[in-house]
This record gives sequence, structure tokens and C-alpha cells, in this order.
Amino acid sequence: MYANLQYNNPGTPQKLWDSVKKAIIYNMDEQEKYMREAIAMARKAERKDEVPVGAVIVKRGEIIARACNLRETKKDPVAHAEILAIKKAAKKLRGWRLENCVMYVTLEPCPMCAGAIVNSRIKQVVFGAYDPKAGALGSLYDLAEGKLNHTPQITGGVLKDECSIMLKKYFSGKRS
Ligand SMILES: [Zn+2]
Repeated sequence: MYANLQYNNPGTPQKLWDSVKKAIIYNMDEQEKYMREAIAMARKAERKDEVPVGAVIVKRGEIIARACNLRETKKDPVAHAEILAIKKAAKKLRGWRLENCVMYVTLEPCPMCAGAIVNSRIKQVVFGAYDPKAGALGSLYDLAEGKLNHTPQITGGVLKDECSIMLKKYFSGKRS
């Protein structure tokens, strides 16, 4: 749809182009702002010697939940950042339907978390690093392809270098 919105396309009024451009830039700033909050949570996991993944959930511009991966600390295989953030958000909203909520998470969710995202009716997921080995929002599987009863909107790769560098550092530290 953006194909017709070129600068040099005489059919696109300058005003329309300017407002589209403004919206895109605003959206990018907005996404990076919340991704930085998710990165701050990943750093918290890093300090606890957990795999550094962080997530926040935003509803109408307000962060309603923050969480980081706590699998080791809690000795709990389902204590991924996304699951913990979903539980906190549901508690805060006093209901399981996280409609109109956007999740920002530093790593592409795994099948378990992508399933929880679909089941909680989260409207949109913005993730940082892609996960070719376990990512279930497009990389290895795509649980948002539209076969299930709810289809969240997906945006991947936001601040992906910052997000993946933490993971690389963590895993290289584990090997040495
Ligand atoms: Zn997960």
C-alpha cells in the first residue's frame, strides 16, 4: 500500500505524504521507547544470571506489566518473561482478555509464549531479536498466521541488535 506514497509520485498530495511520514516516524519512536523498557527488564534477568529476555505490556500508552525471564530463579519451566508479563497484566486488568494490549519483548516468543499470547487476545506483539531455533511468530513456526481463533499483529526486529547482543554475551559467557 505504501507503493503509491512515493515522494516523486505526482498522485500523492504532499500533505498526505507528510502525515503518513509523521505517523511512521512516531510509530518507530513509540516502538523503540517501549522496547527499551523491555531491554531494561532483560538486563534485570542478566543480573540474576538468567537468559536475558524481558517483556512489557502496554495498554493505551501505559505500561501495565513488566517482567523478565525467571526460569532458574523460580525453578519453573514456564517462567518465561512473556508468561509472567501476561499474568501480571491479567491481574492488573482483573480479567484474562488483554484486548487492546501490545506486548514488547526482546526475543521472538517460543511456541508456549506465542500460544499464551493468542489465548490472551493480545492485539499486537513487537519483538526484538529473531529466534530461528525456537521462534513461533514467523521464524520456526508462525502461530499468528491466522489459523487460530485470534491473530495478533506482529512486528519483528525492533532494536534487534541491542536485544541479541545481550543473548550472545550470555551464551558465550556460559561456554567459556
Ligand atoms: Zn517462551
